[in-house]
Amino acid sequence: MNKEKDRLPLKQAISYTWRGVRIWHNAVPGLFPAAGARQALTALTPCLPLYFTARLVNAIAGNETPGQIWRILLALLASTAFAGAAHAVAVCWDETMRNSHKWPAWNRVFFQKLLQMDFCDADNPKTQALLTQIEQNSNWSAWGLDKLYWCFSDLSGATWRILGAIALSASLFALPVPAQSPLAWLNHPLCLTGIAALMILSAIATSSLTNRANSYWANYDGTGGNRAFSFFGFIAILERHRGADIRLYAQDRYLGSRYITIMNGEESFGPKSSIGKAARGPMGACAAASGAVSRMFVGVIYLFAGLKALGGAFGIGSIAQYVGALTGLIQGITLLLETLGTLRVNAEFLKPVYELLDTPNNMYQGSLTTEKRADRKYVIEFKDVSFRYPGARTWALRHVSMQFRVGQRLAVVGENGSGKTTFIKLLCRLYDPTEGEILLNGIDIRKYRYDNYLNLFSVVFQDFQLLAQSLGANVAAAEEYDRARAEQCLHKAGFSGQLTKLPKGLDTCLYREFEDDGVEISGGEAQKIALARVLYQDAPFIVLDEPTAALDPEAEAEVYTHFNEIVEDKTAVYISHRLSSCRFCDEIAVFDKGSVVQQGTHDRLVETDGKYRDLWNAQAQYYQNRENK
Ligand code: ADP
Repeated sequence: MNKEKDRLPLKQAISYTWRGVRIWHNAVPGLFPAAGARQALTALTPCLPLYFTARLVNAIAGNETPGQIWRILLALLASTAFAGAAHAVAVCWDETMRNSHKWPAWNRVFFQKLLQMDFCDADNPKTQALLTQIEQNSNWSAWGLDKLYWCFSDLSGATWRILGAIALSASLFALPVPAQSPLAWLNHPLCLTGIAALMILSAIATSSLTNRANSYWANYDGTGGNRAFSFFGFIAILERHRGADIRLYAQDRYLGSRYITIMNGEESFGPKSSIGKAARGPMGACAAASGAVSRMFVGVIYLFAGLKALGGAFGIGSIAQYVGALTGLIQGITLLLETLGTLRVNAEFLKPVYELLDTPNNMYQGSLTTEKRADRKYVIEFKDVSFRYPGARTWALRHVSMQFRVGQRLAVVGENGSGKTTFIKLLCRLYDPTEGEILLNGIDIRKYRYDNYLNLFSVVFQDFQLLAQSLGANVAAAEEYDRARAEQCLHKAGFSGQLTKLPKGLDTCLYREFEDDGVEISGGEAQKIALARVLYQDAPFIVLDEPTAALDPEAEAEVYTHFNEIVEDKTAVYISHRLSSCRFCDEIAVFDKGSVVQQGTHDRLVETDGKYRDLWNAQAQYYQNRENK
C-alpha cells in the first residue's frame, strides 16, 4: 500500500537533519571524518589513471621521447599505488567506525534516553510504540538517524566526484580547435553553452527520475512485512526455544513462506505485492528512463570530445579522459540531487526519533537526601493513596492507607489485577500517586533525591532478568565485587549446593551466549540467584514479587524456613498468590479491586468472614483435590 508521506517544510527538514548530524557527531566523533576520507579517495583515485593514461596515449601518438613516456608511466604507477594504499586505509577506518561504533551508538542514544526518562513514560505503551516505529523504519530501509550517515557518505562522494570531474574536464572546453580546421565551429560559445545545458538537464532528469523510482520504496509501508520477516524468517535461528515445537508440529512446512504474506492477507514483497507491481510498472519505467537519459548524454560527450580531437584541439588519448570525467560529473550531480531528495524525505522519519528523545521528565525531583541510618528506622506510610495509569479511566488503586513498621514482614495478597504490583510500583516511586501521598519518615517521598530514595529498596520482580555474565557479577550487579559476600548471599538464598557443582564457581558464566562453558540454569535456580542479588544490595527494604513461584515445593519450604535469617532486620514486602506461603508474615494486606479490604495476621484473617477466608478456602480445596488425585 502506497501512502504519500507529508512533506516537512524545508527549514524544519534542514534543522531536523542538522540535529541528527550533531547527535551522530557527539556519539561517534570519528564517524563522519572516516566516511568523508573514504568517499574522497574513492572518488579521486580513478581520476589518476584517467589523467595519466590520456597523457601516455597522447605521448605515444605524438611520438614523444622514450624518456618522456617512461616518466609518465612511472608517475601513473606511483600515484595510483599511493592512492590505492591510502584508499585501503580509509576503507578500513570507515568500516571500523561503521561496524564497531555506529550501531552500538545508535542503540546507546535510545537506551540512555529510556533509562533517563520517568519510568511512567518508559512504561507507557505510546513510548514503546514510538520505539518500535523507529526500529522498524531503521530496519525497513535505514530511515531515520541511520540514513543520515549514508546520506553524508553519498554527499561527500558526490562532491568529490564533481570536483575531480571538473578538474579533469575543464580543458575540454578551454582548449580550442585550431581556427583553420573545418571543425572550428565547435569553439563557438553556443556550442559550449549547449553542452553545459544538456549536462544540467540530463542530471536533473536522471536524478528526478531516480528519485521518483525511489519514492515508491520510501512511501511503501513495508514495516508489517519486515516484522513478519523478522519473526518468521529467523524463527528457527533466533527463537531457539521454539525449535522443539516447530519440529513436533512440522510447522516448517508453511513457516518458510509465511513472511511473504503479512497478517491482513496482502503480500509484502513478492511479485503480487504492490511494490512488486510498481517495479513492473511506473517504478521500473522511471529507473529505466533514468539510465537511458544518462547513457544518451555520454553518447553526446563522446561525439563532442571526438570531434574536437579530430579538429586538433587535443590528442586522441584525451577523449577517454574527457568522457570518463564528464560521465563522472553527471553521476556526481545526479547523486548529489538524489541524496538531497532522500534527506528531505528522511526528515519525516526523524520526527518520531525526536518525539522520543524530547520526552520531558515531569516527575518532581526532590533534593533531600535520605540519611544513612544504621538502625534502619525508615518508616514508610501510604496516606489515602489513589492511582490511575496514564490514559486509563479506572482506578488501579483507591484510597490505600498503610504504614510499614520497621522490620515487619508484610504479605500483599489478592487476585490478579487487584493492584498488588501497582502498589509496589508506587512504593518504589516508579509512578507518583494520582491522589494522596506516600511519606518516608513523615516527609513526602517526592522531596527526596530519586536515586537516594531508590537505594532504600531491593526488588525482585516476577519477570526479573539475569544477564549472560558471570554468576558473581549477576549477584553483585557489578563487575567488581566482594566475593565472600556474594557467596554468603548465594548460601542464604539456598544456592550453595549448586554453587559447589559449578566448574568455575562465582566466575561461571550464566547462559551460553558468550561462553561455550556457560551454564543454562533452571527457573528455580534463576530465582535463587535473583534472591541473592536482593540480599547483596543490603537495602533496608526488600520487595519480593512471587519469589518462589518457580521453586519446587521442597526448595520453597527451604526458603520459608530460612526467611527470617534471609531477611534479617530488613523490612520485607512479599507479594504472592499462594496464601499458604504468606503464613510466616507478621501481617497480611488483602487487595481487592485496588483497595485494601482486610489487614491482619493469617490466624485472625482466616477466622474472619471476608475475602481472605474465601481465597484461603478456594486454594485449600485445590490443594486437597491435588493431594486426593
Ligand atoms: P496485580 O499485580 O494484583 O495482578 P496490577 O497492579 O498489575 O495487579 O494491576 C491493577 C490494575 O491496573 C489492573 O486492572 C490492570 O489491568 C491495571 N494496569 C496494570 N498495569 C497497567 C498499565 N501499565 N497501564 C494501564 N493499566 C494497568
